[in-house]
Amino acid sequence: MRISFCQGLLTGAIVLNLLILYYVSRAQQQMMEKRREPGKGAPKRASLPIPGMGIGSSSSRGPGITILVREFEDFENYVADVARSFLKIRPELPFVVVADTLPYPPLALPEGVRLVVLKPAPDQPPQVSRPELYIQTEYVLVVPDGVELDLGRQLDRLLKELEGEGGGPVRLVAAPVLTRSAVQCLHLRVSLREWTATYAPAASGSSGSVCTALRGDAVILIRTEDLFNLSTPLSKPLMTSIFIQTSLRGWKVKLLEGPAFGSNRRPLFSSAHNQWKVDSRLKESTARLFREFGIKRVIQAEGKDQWYGCRKETERCFGTVLDDTPDYLYLDRWTPPCCLRALRETTKYVINILETSGVRYWLEGGTLLGAARHQDIIPWDYDVDLGIYLEDIPNCDYLKSLDSGSLTDANGYVWERAVEGNFYRVQYSEANHLHVDLWPFYSRNGVMTKDSWTDHKQDVEFPEHFLHPLVPMQFAGITAYAPNNHQSFLELKFGEGVVENPQYPNPAKKRLEKSKL
Ligand code: ZN
Repeated sequence: MRISFCQGLLTGAIVLNLLILYYVSRAQQQMMEKRREPGKGAPKRASLPIPGMGIGSSSSRGPGITILVREFEDFENYVADVARSFLKIRPELPFVVVADTLPYPPLALPEGVRLVVLKPAPDQPPQVSRPELYIQTEYVLVVPDGVELDLGRQLDRLLKELEGEGGGPVRLVAAPVLTRSAVQCLHLRVSLREWTATYAPAASGSSGSVCTALRGDAVILIRTEDLFNLSTPLSKPLMTSIFIQTSLRGWKVKLLEGPAFGSNRRPLFSSAHNQWKVDSRLKESTARLFREFGIKRVIQAEGKDQWYGCRKETERCFGTVLDDTPDYLYLDRWTPPCCLRALRETTKYVINILETSGVRYWLEGGTLLGAARHQDIIPWDYDVDLGIYLEDIPNCDYLKSLDSGSLTDANGYVWERAVEGNFYRVQYSEANHLHVDLWPFYSRNGVMTKDSWTDHKQDVEFPEHFLHPLVPMQFAGITAYAPNNHQSFLELKFGEGVVENPQYPNPAKKRLEKSKL
């Protein structure tokens, strides 16, 4: 095909037009980005994401600090005053406010302050609610509400300290702010496998303290890249959330000594009602955070135990167990501590009833295995098994009346005859189905046997001499009865070396890796 001179000219003109159009629109966009929101009234939510900024792309970030305010209450806050104080002394510093939803009443933020709302809007792209895309400095200073900057050199000191740490474990530098109670440096150990966070007091040094968590209000300086590489950088309560995540990464925080950062702190929550509102919101957000992180037990620095898992009135933490492998094993976690606690409590209760009513019992299967290994329930086990003498059942009022159905006793435990076979089950409560199973055996020619069997390999007959005599054994905080020579008893049921070589119940589905012990 031949192209005439006219056609060529026309094509050229079109291309030129398109190029002009492109450059004009780009220039307009740049102008819009530079233009700041008017200072009067409430700033609109941020709507111009910075293109090309990925998480961790520190190369595109410049030096300096962005001030970030994340935690404040709509009904009483000083965010606008905080922003003005920083902008007055350090007008060049970007200031970003992050809120879950558009604050109401609106914040009267000074010109240039960016408000990022985390709640996605259906008419906006997702970048709009990603604060990291609005932060272009290498560092972020997280500032609690009410803390006003009065001396620029306080910022310089924080920066110098963090830069001085180089590539060491200290990745956060903090300074206390004026508050009713002093900020504390704590050691935090988080074991996700055990669903537990343990705080302990940390010793303080002369040039400030290095630890893994802070309690109380402080400003925190952190590299932008570090902050936004956390799993969930801005979850509330912010300090609790940040330090759980940083301690899991082995990062430390240095708490500086000396005068508080910002010598005038606006007093927050003037009324008892507002303080109550804040307290109850904090309780809520703390529980939500621990639920999201899968932390069910928190041991505070003073030793106080806090539980966020299942209770007698709630469902147990895991669903029906398939293939002997509870869901938490696939998450590389062990039995939630609340469940272990409920199992111990139920075991203690049931054993007490069996003993007082004259039913001979012994620790069975995996329960005996746990007792032999460490005098407790195996840390990934999900129930407790006891063997009982079939002929003793009439001695126990609860068991003998259980021809069918179930009964809830005065303490809320549910006794039932299991539909799966000829055994009994005592549940922690009607809601929480953690349970102790009772397996009735009888003697036939010196062999302990029963009439129905499960497909578990440990569910086999055994010589009666293991029960003559029954011997006391420490288990889950009590003294319980167990077969004599429990080592041979266990090897007969599970195979040789079973006490010394822990393994998950169904290694074909999920194996315990020895390196993780
Ligand atoms: Zn539980």
